[in-house]
Amino acid sequence: MAKTSTRGAGTTTAAEQEIERLREELRRHEELYYVYDNPEISDADYDALMSRLQQLEAEHPELAAADSPTQRVGGRPAEGFEEYVHRRPMLSLDNSYNIEDLRAFDERVKRLADGRRLEYVAELKIDGLSISLHYEGGLLARGVTRGDGRRGEDVTQNVRTIRSIPLRLRDDVGGAAELPNIEVRGEAYLSRKTFERINAEREEAEEPRFANPRNAAAGTIRQLDPKIVDRRRLALFAYDVIGGDRKAFATHYEGLEWLERAGFQVSHKRLCPTIDEVIEFCNEMEARRDELEYEIDGVVVKVNSAALQEEFGATAKSPRWAIAYKYPARQATTQVLDIIVQVGRTGALTPVAVLAPVLVAGSTVARATLHNEDEIKRLGLLKGDWVLIEKSGDVIPKVIRVVESRRTGEEKRFKLPKACPVCGGVVSRPEGEVVSRCVAADCPAQLKARLLHFASRRAMRIEGLGDALADQFVQKRMVRDVAGLYDLTHEELVALERMAEKSASNLLAQIEASKERDLPQLVFGLGIRHVGERTAAILARQFRTLAGLGAATVEELDAVPEIGLTVAESVRDWFADEGNQALCERLRGKGVRTEMEANAGGAQTEAFAGLLFVLTGKLETMTRDEAAAIIEARGGRVTSSVSKKTTYVVAGEEAGSKLDKAQSLGVRVLDEAEFRELLAGSV
Ligand code: AMP
Repeated sequence: MAKTSTRGAGTTTAAEQEIERLREELRRHEELYYVYDNPEISDADYDALMSRLQQLEAEHPELAAADSPTQRVGGRPAEGFEEYVHRRPMLSLDNSYNIEDLRAFDERVKRLADGRRLEYVAELKIDGLSISLHYEGGLLARGVTRGDGRRGEDVTQNVRTIRSIPLRLRDDVGGAAELPNIEVRGEAYLSRKTFERINAEREEAEEPRFANPRNAAAGTIRQLDPKIVDRRRLALFAYDVIGGDRKAFATHYEGLEWLERAGFQVSHKRLCPTIDEVIEFCNEMEARRDELEYEIDGVVVKVNSAALQEEFGATAKSPRWAIAYKYPARQATTQVLDIIVQVGRTGALTPVAVLAPVLVAGSTVARATLHNEDEIKRLGLLKGDWVLIEKSGDVIPKVIRVVESRRTGEEKRFKLPKACPVCGGVVSRPEGEVVSRCVAADCPAQLKARLLHFASRRAMRIEGLGDALADQFVQKRMVRDVAGLYDLTHEELVALERMAEKSASNLLAQIEASKERDLPQLVFGLGIRHVGERTAAILARQFRTLAGLGAATVEELDAVPEIGLTVAESVRDWFADEGNQALCERLRGKGVRTEMEANAGGAQTEAFAGLLFVLTGKLETMTRDEAAAIIEARGGRVTSSVSKKTTYVVAGEEAGSKLDKAQSLGVRVLDEAEFRELLAGSV
């Protein structure tokens, strides 16, 4: 079993020891977080450990290791993917849709076993896409998609970003780990929560939503840029291990247990001596389907003995020793009674289908979002149409298609109104965009949505400020913008309908407490277009104060890692607006925290906020560590590799490839004297 590829045998230096310790620690936290869903440390602490390791590795390139946690996202965007022929084909599974089918499978398999003892393993059928992982000498060497079953695509760079895939097999687990070549197969998927986050971000960015987690996962794994894949947070459940060209263990179940020990996630599984127990597992898991954090579409039943599996073999399409028991789709047909239009906080007009209420998988569905005009066009939907809808987990129900055969001719075409349905303001749909918006600055629907967003749990968390209250604040003109919440008085509140003394006091206390939220929550709460929760956190951490963020230029914003031009421009436009500037002033005046809490990174000035430095070569008057500390104290960031986002490369003596790269990308290079000048001008 391979150890880490730390070179330079003999004495270990302090740096080497610290690097090794950090790698171990980070691996342990990744496993706790992604495999056991039981983190011990905060995300910020994790990030701090990671940046320390990145820094040490940048200083000691000789200690680099392909399996270091820093290497999950190293690669550049791919030009395309190379084809890869699977060593063993990745077959489909036969499907069964009811208990009789399962019993018929049991009969078939028993005939093949001809009196020999049979056992089954039942496991969840995760709704994602299958991936084959190759480990050589214990290290992850390749990741391949299933493709057509015979040939897949080499997506190694992307697969490396999946935290529930170990880059190195744990070497204390024995068994198959001793083998030089191991293939692990598993299902890559997105949890429902992650799926919702991605769709929310896509909505912010005005990109089309993914239809379901499976499509989103499939689209993600084929992304050319591993950084995007990394952000999407795919996960993987392993379901098979093959050693060389044979099954690695005598039984499938042992294989699953080994996978868990080697550091993989394995979903719910059960060893079942009879088909009745398999059926029980299927029923149990169907009842628990909504509790799971990911989508499943059924249960896979496999013969446990590897010898029998080999003997039974496969047809051209699927193995004879396994079957998928599919759960019924959660679909229903119903009628679209009306299409209404909601106005969001950025003025976006969203059409929503009002449905004849229908029961789907245990709950009543009465509405489905239609997203935008183009989606209605794509569906060919008319008011009054019968439609097929689908609900998956807690994902918002959606319209799959129109049942044209049920049309009567009475259906009516839907047109998005030319004026805002709430304030009558002008609606515009800029060229090339899918969303129409009410452009009136004082649209009450927008104000209400902005207040609700500002008060929401992930923003300023003002509990008790719900829909009905926001409505009254807007209609009675008690609040004209989010800062107005801080002017509300007890007398005003108790005068409202159904507002008791006590609720008024509670609400005021909540509003008061919200002043202490941290900068990321405030920036998110402002509701700047394209700035979702994660983007807000990145911006806040980078600029550290609301004023600093407000003063940033498009170039400075765009230079921040993970911030693109669209976000940069949107932030700039928001802060350029005089009304918004006044709003920020009033928030500050009311005592709302507009600085990063407790000066988390120890920044002393903001002179380098938004600037990205790379240090290379040997400096004369200070060490690289000292230089990095000085940059960070001024709010700048230091990274180890040069990209087009790098603002400055500081090059000392004997600078190497980073200097070449900076020159080829046209990144500004400073020598030590110029760097010192820059420092002198920034205090
Ligand atoms: P199908 O594509 O419907 O023929 O089903 C076969 C696919 O089910 C495999 O290629 C895997 O992507 C997926 N699958 C999900 N969970 C499992 C599992 N536990 N065992 C085997 N295959 C699974």
